[in-house]
Amino acid sequence: MKEKAVEKGYAKINLHLDVTGILDGGYHAVSTVMQSVTLCDEITLSEIKIAPVPSFSISCDRSDVPCDERNLAYRAAMLFCEKSGISLSARIDIAKNIPMAAGMAGGSTDGAAVLRGLNKALGEPLTASELCDIGSSLGADVPFCIVGGTLYADGKGDILHEFPKMPDCHIVIACDGESVSTPWAYRLLDSTYDNFEIGAYEPKDITPLRNALFAGSISAVAENIYNIFESPVLALRPVAADIKDTLLSSGAIAAMMSGSGPSVFGIFESRENAQSAAARLKKKGYTPYICQPVTPN
Ligand code: ATP
Repeated sequence: MKEKAVEKGYAKINLHLDVTGILDGGYHAVSTVMQSVTLCDEITLSEIKIAPVPSFSISCDRSDVPCDERNLAYRAAMLFCEKSGISLSARIDIAKNIPMAAGMAGGSTDGAAVLRGLNKALGEPLTASELCDIGSSLGADVPFCIVGGTLYADGKGDILHEFPKMPDCHIVIACDGESVSTPWAYRLLDSTYDNFEIGAYEPKDITPLRNALFAGSISAVAENIYNIFESPVLALRPVAADIKDTLLSSGAIAAMMSGSGPSVFGIFESRENAQSAAARLKKKGYTPYICQPVTPN
């Protein structure tokens, strides 16, 4: 057994996010294409030992991240012990770079990194699919964060399917000062689309995006990204709307909100345009992140 593991927890953006109906139990059925980007948290697991009872101490370099049982990294570690039947203790140090509550799966990716890291340290007792089963009980985005890359997901967003890879490009992401709670954003959708009663809303066809990705055409990808949350949420979040306008007027070939917001990403073909868009956002007082799509190995 290894005593230490260091894992990157990549942020995600949604290239497509739609609601296809309501599942038993009241959850929204989603259809989504998620993409990992190089913006990431770094999770260091150390002093990993067999212990009489599971016990984990969490630290984070940002004071607004809860370092107790509310942290998804902690909950992931406890679930790993429960499901694997191996009782462990470890330190978990989180270096946080992903903006919080922004629609980029920051907490989910930390939980996923802990599951991957503990499994690696122990010589991989659990398969990727077993890790994803544990992950889906932590949160709908966790299975995607365990695997990463470009994937299509349905169900609650936790049932993964292969999808063609995103071509190389530059992505600028920003959000600032505004918050969006995911339950609030779903209530907003319900009121916009008559609670998704039959006939009230027609989900968007995903085929053009799949074809664009398959063809490796970043301009065709840019033409076919979609997020059902974007128009109702941006109407109520002026900063996010301004970030989108700034990205588009700075050379982005497309810009869209990620997840339920409020983060907005722009897609750029050239590094220079991405850099000048980031400079304009900075001048307006926002904090931009320049990153690229990534497929973890
Ligand atoms: P998603 O896209 O999966 O909905 P998000 O990016 O919108 O997630 P998070 O960054 O995961 O949102 O943060 C949501 C809340 O989760 C935070 O307000 C925080 O209190 C809690 N949280 C729990 N664990 C973590 C973690 N490791 N990092 C950040 N937030 C965490």
